[in-house]
Amino acid sequence: MTGFFDTPIEYLKGIGPQRAMVLNKELKIFTFADLIQHYPFRYEDRTKFYKVIDLNEDLQYVQLKGFIKRKELIGTGFKKRLVAHFSDGSGDIELVWFQGINWINEKIKAGAGIEYVVFGKPSLFGRKFNIAHPEIDVLTEAKEKGGFLQPVYPLTEKLRAKHLDNRAISKIIQTLLIQADGKIRETLPHKILADENLLSKKESVMNIHFPANYELLAKAQHRLKFEELFYIQLRLLKMKLIRQEKAKGQVFQNVSLLTQFYNEHLPFELTGAQKKVIKEIYSDLKSGKQMNRLLQGDVGSGKTIVAYICMLIVISNTSQCALMAPTEILAQQHFKNLTRYADKMHITIALLTGSTKKSDRKIIHEMLRSGALKILIGTHALLEEEVKFQNLGLSIVDEQHRFGVAQRSKLWQKNEDFYPHVLVMTATPIPRTLAMTLYGDLDISVIDQLPAGRKAIKTIHKFDAHRLQVNQFLKDQILSGRQVYIVYPLIEESEKLDLKHLMDGYESISRAFPEFAISILHGKMKPDAKEYEMNRFARGETKIMVATTVIEVGVDVPNASVMVIENAERFGLSQLHQLRGRVGRGAEQSYCILMTDYKLGADSKVRLKTMVSTNNGFEIAETDLSLRGPGDLLGTQQSGVLDLLIADLGRDGQLLQHARGVATQILQDDPELASAENKVIKIQIDSTRKTAVNWSRIS
Ligand code: ADP
Ligand code: MG
Repeated sequence: MTGFFDTPIEYLKGIGPQRAMVLNKELKIFTFADLIQHYPFRYEDRTKFYKVIDLNEDLQYVQLKGFIKRKELIGTGFKKRLVAHFSDGSGDIELVWFQGINWINEKIKAGAGIEYVVFGKPSLFGRKFNIAHPEIDVLTEAKEKGGFLQPVYPLTEKLRAKHLDNRAISKIIQTLLIQADGKIRETLPHKILADENLLSKKESVMNIHFPANYELLAKAQHRLKFEELFYIQLRLLKMKLIRQEKAKGQVFQNVSLLTQFYNEHLPFELTGAQKKVIKEIYSDLKSGKQMNRLLQGDVGSGKTIVAYICMLIVISNTSQCALMAPTEILAQQHFKNLTRYADKMHITIALLTGSTKKSDRKIIHEMLRSGALKILIGTHALLEEEVKFQNLGLSIVDEQHRFGVAQRSKLWQKNEDFYPHVLVMTATPIPRTLAMTLYGDLDISVIDQLPAGRKAIKTIHKFDAHRLQVNQFLKDQILSGRQVYIVYPLIEESEKLDLKHLMDGYESISRAFPEFAISILHGKMKPDAKEYEMNRFARGETKIMVATTVIEVGVDVPNASVMVIENAERFGLSQLHQLRGRVGRGAEQSYCILMTDYKLGADSKVRLKTMVSTNNGFEIAETDLSLRGPGDLLGTQQSGVLDLLIADLGRDGQLLQHARGVATQILQDDPELASAENKVIKIQIDSTRKTAVNWSRIS
């Protein structure tokens, strides 16, 4: 269906092909619909007039009303400027122009009794205020526009260079809104509008661009946010509904291996939270429906053994399992840990990564096809074409946010008859609101308890100036048998520089601790070199591990009790928390030491304070969300997935929950959206117009 809103923007009066191209490129605005959804990000208040006498330095933009007493051209060349002496009866200010002088000079008249409206940012110059490059109109013209809130649109330098400034964009959108009058259809059912007391779509669109007053602006924002969140949730819930109906799952009821493991090999008592989660997963596995579950558990909460136990259920039913990890180190670690359990039970297990030898690969491929291999662990090498299972029953993806969804869904397709059950594990606690959106169609299990006997990690912030004291502490720890991590940040701009920082650090640490063996680990090393260093450290042969963030994920050395993070202000909160999770895995008291310079930005201070004050990953995630917003929180892999038009997952959590509730109710009452009342919903969902969320990237 193509309609008015699908029209390419070049056909709008005032745009044309040249400008259209810039708008396409800079703002991804292609159609009338895109343009109408290019919402202002703030508004300037043109509803009231300030008095000159009331001006102060804190004011951003002000609107004044008065007369030009005289004007003069001052200076020459670069310094040439037009100065107009403006008075509103309460006081005088100077209006100054450095550019477009001739044009302005002709436009404004001094001493002619003409009343002007002036708008701009006042700055104090000596004891007098002036405004550089104000907007200025004769009062009558300004009056025609009425007192209003001026929209301010997101712009780029390239747009400005093509004279597409805020005024131009406002004008273009105004033109479009006039043409669109009568064509903006309602996109929510009347019942929802009435129940939720929402402004109509048309009024909302008008008022989001050109608000009549603050009250209507707030109502327009509320309505559009609600709509955006409502449709995201509705689509997710509908996807879940469809999958539950259509995607049949293999039924795994036999638990013989699990029982055997429990009785003979379980190395420790499971926590209550681990047991609860295993029950949830087992009930999925035997339900006949395909499982799609997100398992959230803070670092060290014991997800690996939960994954293994779930695999045992699947293998008891003669099916196979895959576990995919984002890095080679992590895959190796999983392989090592799970091999310990699997060997005792004579379960075949293999590791497949980019560096697996060709001859080994061949054997793995054959054993997978014959069904002899029960557990395959690996990196995205698992996704390669030749990797075919006899009957894949369970796909586990660890640290899922590092994989694109496209990659993940490839793993599902490794079983042609049935989708395998899918368990997505993440140690990055995701705030509720975000989980509801990113994984809104998955069921969620949470391990919200750490194994007993763990001592809470003590986190300390130290300035670089106290390094000697810190070094002494490290020495004492090592002498009493512990091991230490020292981590350097990755500075994305330059890998070379990163390596240099790390090597400099390594040198000075070697000098400070000549008596201890030291390991080094960074992303540029070959896999076998990495493995060699990791193993030396794991065996306790080296006492200090100097590393970049490659150790962030999953590395497990229980005897390491101190994590020193250099330039801690450079790390994001979730990364700091992940790094800290590398210690506190044994019975000893563990420490995390955050090293920084004295100079710290406001956000850095909040991050450090948060780290010192709590070990709770969910609390940290909430703070992170409020500091950085959802896009950054997810890292580059998924940025762009959540480019919402108007809602903000950090701030609009309550509205999101509410909208999800409304969507749930609608689908409960009318799962097919077949009623007359819900017809607008159906149309909206089916329409192919650009939506805020990039669905192809969300499972
Ligand atoms: P994560 O959830 O971060 O992946 P792991 O699965 O690596 O955590 O577990 C962290 C450590 O805790 C491992 O050494 C593991 O053997 C141990 N562990 C897991 N569950 C328990 C438990 N119930 N009791 C004691 N130790 C446990
Ligand atoms: Mg783990």
